[in-house]
Amino acid sequence: MGQLETILQRTFGYTRLREGQRPVMEQLMAGRDVLSVMPTGAGKSLCYQLPALAMPGITLVVSPLISLMKDQVESLIHCGVAAAYLNSSLTERQYALALRYAGEGRYKLIYVAPERLDTPGFLRFAATAPISMVAVDEAHCVSQWGQDFRPSYLKIPEFLQKLPRRPVVGAFTATATPEVRRDIARGLGLRDPFEIVSGFDRKNLFFAVEEPKDKRTALLKFLRQHKGESGIVYCNTRRTVDEVAELLCRDGWPAARYHAGLEPEERRRNQEAFVYGNCTIMVATNAFGMGIDKPDVRFVVHYNMPKDMESYYQEAGRAGRDGEDAVCLLLYGGKDVVTSRFLIELREENEEVSDEVYEARVRRDLERLRQMTFYCHTQECLRATILRYFGEKAPGNCGKCGNCVGSDMEDVTAEARVLLQTVDQSGQRFGMGRIIEIAAGGDTGAVAAWGLDRLAVYGRLASVPRDQLRAILRLLVAQDCLTQTEGQYPILELGPKAGEVLQGRQKLYLRRKRPPKGQKAEPVQEERTADEALLERLKAVRSRLARMRGVPAYVIFSDKTLREMSALKPTAVEQLRQVGGVGEYKQAQYGRDFVACVRNYLQEKE
Ligand code: ADP
Ligand code: ZN
Repeated sequence: MGQLETILQRTFGYTRLREGQRPVMEQLMAGRDVLSVMPTGAGKSLCYQLPALAMPGITLVVSPLISLMKDQVESLIHCGVAAAYLNSSLTERQYALALRYAGEGRYKLIYVAPERLDTPGFLRFAATAPISMVAVDEAHCVSQWGQDFRPSYLKIPEFLQKLPRRPVVGAFTATATPEVRRDIARGLGLRDPFEIVSGFDRKNLFFAVEEPKDKRTALLKFLRQHKGESGIVYCNTRRTVDEVAELLCRDGWPAARYHAGLEPEERRRNQEAFVYGNCTIMVATNAFGMGIDKPDVRFVVHYNMPKDMESYYQEAGRAGRDGEDAVCLLLYGGKDVVTSRFLIELREENEEVSDEVYEARVRRDLERLRQMTFYCHTQECLRATILRYFGEKAPGNCGKCGNCVGSDMEDVTAEARVLLQTVDQSGQRFGMGRIIEIAAGGDTGAVAAWGLDRLAVYGRLASVPRDQLRAILRLLVAQDCLTQTEGQYPILELGPKAGEVLQGRQKLYLRRKRPPKGQKAEPVQEERTADEALLERLKAVRSRLARMRGVPAYVIFSDKTLREMSALKPTAVEQLRQVGGVGEYKQAQYGRDFVACVRNYLQEKE
């Protein structure tokens, strides 16, 4: 077993590194800068936490969000790791004390806000401390392209230059666009970075899209299927948030709301209620979520379609961070497109951009909106659609999304190829009806008159029903393999993606029937079955310990860990280590309480 695995097991209680984690860790430890793109929840933090423990010296983690720092540091401390944070939430005395301890080498990991990097006190510390690595979290904040630009991130390269010895630098983000990646490498002054995009497939998430007649009814129905679970409902405006939150509260759901129009005090209170567990449903705009690490979010419903796939996947990705099954449902409505388009084309009167810049931005955003809308309409596997968008390869049928489950996906690639050849061979001058006639071998006068019955493709698809051929042609248009001209008699021409299908690089699937939507995903792996009654008791123990220590419940153990524990029923503290998520520290701290709970339970059953 390697050094990384040893730390992984002893400190974090996990057995395996996830895909994409190992190369990042190995490069950092070999001293090479890294730019790692991983979606939310894929396990980015471990990519620098683990090397930080394996390497000599101190690791600085630059992070833009105070709540996130606090959360991570608390979790680390509960794994027995010496960690601290330095930001504006500390009083001057606390800050001075933390800095003094840092100087004494008491911490392996120090989280620091970017604003602190050029303050005299911090620089004095950094000048003499053995800093071996700087990890930059949410690294896209350095990009002036993105919407999360933070000027203080520009201080990072200056800071690195002031250090006596340049540490290795790891940059981490969930934003995959090439422009942003280039900005990060340049803006942070990375040296020949190892770049890797990984982990976009979240296997425990079930994706579904619905286009309901009435969203309110659809939402309430969905919630009834997920009673007792914690989740987020995203809406695109503050007003919708207020309406939906009111609807849910009136219907008796433990819901709260969150948007930028609320008083800071109410925002804080609602967020806390959600994280600490007495409010289980949060209705919010996209202002909510950044920096919320709550791992047991069981569903994310989008009440409106977001403006692009990046936003969608980031928000949906807040579900199921603990690796347990979770559902991401998008309630699509045609009005969502209109609203988004309006917002994209909106131009503030005093906005100081040239027409050229404005138009380029509108074009870019409309294209993103088009891709998002495509996701809502596609008949193909939703997971595959997402992964291809982010530049990862994906098989055509995941068997675990609204479009795959319960449906009968038929591979129509061969038929599609013949239809493309038909369009090509007949000179790209006919509409759908005529193309179908040729491929089906129809013997209308027009076909003969044009000599179309002499084409090699004539009659090749005679055995396929014509409405099926029409459906395939529509699919080809939707996939940009064919383009359809405007006007009264639209003509089919080969589209930009035709080659992908003709040369066998892309398969096409057609759905035979509408599948049931919003179901729960199949379990990812065979697991030992949980004992629900015991699980309830273990959760009670966890709540008690969390209250005593003043931390959120998941800092003690995740739902997944407790579920495994209820199945394994360990009666000795040593056995606990077989449960995923139980490291040495947690075993020592909480082991006795949980084992006692299991023993009592078993005795009562006898
Ligand atoms: P993010 O990429 O959003 O920063 P986190 O680092 O918070 O994600 O990780 C998400 C969850 O996955 C956390 O609960 C973390 O402990 C868990 N995790 C990360 N790596 C592993 C692993 N190799 N095995 C099991 N769980 C892991
Ligand atoms: Zn699928």
